[in-house]
Amino acid sequence: MRLLEEEKVLDIIERVTNEAVEKKQRKYLIQPRIIAEIAALDPVDAELVKHGKWEICSDGYYPYCSNCKNEPQCREMTLFCPNCGARMDKEAEYGRGDKE
Ligand SMILES: [Zn+2]
Repeated sequence: MRLLEEEKVLDIIERVTNEAVEKKQRKYLIQPRIIAEIAALDPVDAELVKHGKWEICSDGYYPYCSNCKNEPQCREMTLFCPNCGARMDKEAEYGRGDKE
């Protein structure tokens, strides 16, 4: 996946469509230019943030990660999963079923 800066993409759309209106260009000329300019943007160097929550097995005592299904070795509900790095910012649910 190529991540792009939203601001740059919106600038291209605004600039190309404004020019097209001024020059009274046809739609079939506008779309290829927008697509070509967006394709030429440099990708952003960033990783997608994984999100998860700690869940507790109905028959168990220890939490596990909703993203990778692993228990943390420390058995504490930390802000980030030590196994997969997911940020635990979803609300924890207790008493749900076993690990899938
Ligand atoms: Zn995890």
